[in-house]
Amino acid sequence: MPSDCLFCRIIAGELPASQVFSDESVVAIRDIAPRAPTHILLLSRKHIASVSQVGEKDRDLIGKMCAVGAELAAREGIAEGGYRLVMNVGRNGGQTVDHLHVHLLGGRPMAWPPG
Ligand code: 5GP
Ligand code: ZN
Repeated sequence: MPSDCLFCRIIAGELPASQVFSDESVVAIRDIAPRAPTHILLLSRKHIASVSQVGEKDRDLIGKMCAVGAELAAREGIAEGGYRLVMNVGRNGGQTVDHLHVHLLGGRPMAWPPG
């Protein structure tokens, strides 16, 4: 675990977070600066810098993160109205934390294309 990675430290319990889900491969927390009424971050337990770094053996993890996102959307009551699952990748993609995560955003209409 990189000791300087914010999300690794949250997963390890070294830093506080509002956790909404946890299993052997995924941890979900509420975003500290929510951009929508529901804004949850789905974190891989394993440190991977971004989806660009996902190797062959970790591919199932991406599907798993999306499935957990769908499950949490239902639990949050935003599934029916619709929601968005987002991965920001790299500088132009708007990624600010280099640890694999999917944003679950919902509870309001989303614009397209994103800014
Ligand atoms: P990115 O910009 O890399 O796609 O997403 C990183 C997200 O992490 C941002 O939405 C940001 O608000 C959130 N974030 C940054 N620091 C913290 C923190 O300490 N705790 C939590 N829960 N979220 C954080
Ligand atoms: Zn990490």
